[in-house]
Amino acid sequence: MGMPEGICGSRALPWWEECALAIRKVLQVGDPALRKVSRPVEEFGRKLHQLLDDMYATMQKEDGCGLAAAQVGVLRRAVVIDMGENDEDGLMELVNPVILSMSGEAEGKEGCLSVKGKRGFVTRPQKVKFRAQDRFGNWYEKIVKDRKAVAVQHEVDHLNGILYIDKMTRYVTPEEEEQDAKEDE
Ligand SMILES: [Zn+2]
Repeated sequence: MGMPEGICGSRALPWWEECALAIRKVLQVGDPALRKVSRPVEEFGRKLHQLLDDMYATMQKEDGCGLAAAQVGVLRRAVVIDMGENDEDGLMELVNPVILSMSGEAEGKEGCLSVKGKRGFVTRPQKVKFRAQDRFGNWYEKIVKDRKAVAVQHEVDHLNGILYIDKMTRYVTPEEEEQDAKEDE
């Protein structure tokens, strides 16, 4: 998931960590891999950890808030989300996530690292309860709302081959983007 500049602050990585990471190529809309249903993660070893680390580095480099493994061409149910410096959760890793319940409704502007340079209006539930595994296979449950709830839904959609453009009412116009940029100043 991509967000306008400034909202997703990049957490700087120390050089030794950066050296061990590989920036992976983010597939763009039209690539058939983005339309496939990802398989569950079954092994929680080094390969998964490397994948999650690479996904995080890639997301940071691309200035995104969320990334699903399918977006880097790995059809496994793994997601990273980081809403930026002001978010208390920091980096969230969702392996085999399942949405348990949803409530409310809100319209927001969504972007995606696989749909470069555009955002669209999407209406989704405002609050989400989900369960997921961490990188070691431990299950946890969490309730998220607002932008973080949007991110969770957006990334879980990726695992099922769904993109936000399938759900949006329309794209944000260049004029509206300009207006938003002004308000952010
Ligand atoms: Zn996306």
